[in-house]
Amino acid sequence: MRVQQVAQVIMALIGLVAVAAALWRWQETSWATFVWIASQITLVAIRTPFARENRQNTITAKHAVSIEQVLLALVSIFGFFMPLLHLATGLFDFANYAVPNWAIGAGIAILLPTYWLFWRSHADLGRNWSVTLELREDHGLVTSGVYRSVRHPMYTAIWLMYLVQPLLIHNWIAGFGGLAAFALMYFVRVPHEEAMMREQFGQAYTDYSARTGRLWPRLGRA
Ligand code: SAH
Repeated sequence: MRVQQVAQVIMALIGLVAVAAALWRWQETSWATFVWIASQITLVAIRTPFARENRQNTITAKHAVSIEQVLLALVSIFGFFMPLLHLATGLFDFANYAVPNWAIGAGIAILLPTYWLFWRSHADLGRNWSVTLELREDHGLVTSGVYRSVRHPMYTAIWLMYLVQPLLIHNWIAGFGGLAAFALMYFVRVPHEEAMMREQFGQAYTDYSARTGRLWPRLGRA
């Protein structure tokens, strides 16, 4: 085994222990901990088949936003590792708050269509999807499915997930960290992403932008 593989196995084991500890402590946190862990597993389950498929892509252009890797790391740290650490250990217990069951239920009700949107946007982008900003060989402009009236439906889904997170993780730091980190990433990334698309697809993307909304369909248009 190479050093990198050993490191991955160790990280996975630490992760499993942390998940077990978080579930074990559910009475000190909330039953919503189960929902949060299940939601994280669902996300990985939705994304993994697309990530695997797209490993075969030939990347023709990487849009160099040097800060992007940092922002992606921040989203993982504040949106996943810190919440998990908190649920597993009670690290930020001084910043806890209470959430009534009906509000947790409302969060779950929002998550269900959100997962559908997350899955559907991967399915509609197909081979054109990537974690970082890049273009592949034969990259096509997708304007159908959930992209018909919205330019960033995947980000809509991610916004909704991080908005629901404070209803599942009842802590000012661990609950809201992901939302703050994703907000930062969204506002830095989207102008670069749209500029990259405009450069690649020219007038077609300009026209597409004119008839679509960023996160939500434009009012008054089909
Ligand atoms: N911003 C989109 C996609 C996120 S994935 C969303 O929120 O749904 C990011 C990658 O998707 C970018 O690297 C870009 O190459 C690709 N992409 C974004 N919009 C696209 C579109 N309409 N058609 C094809 N590829 C697109």
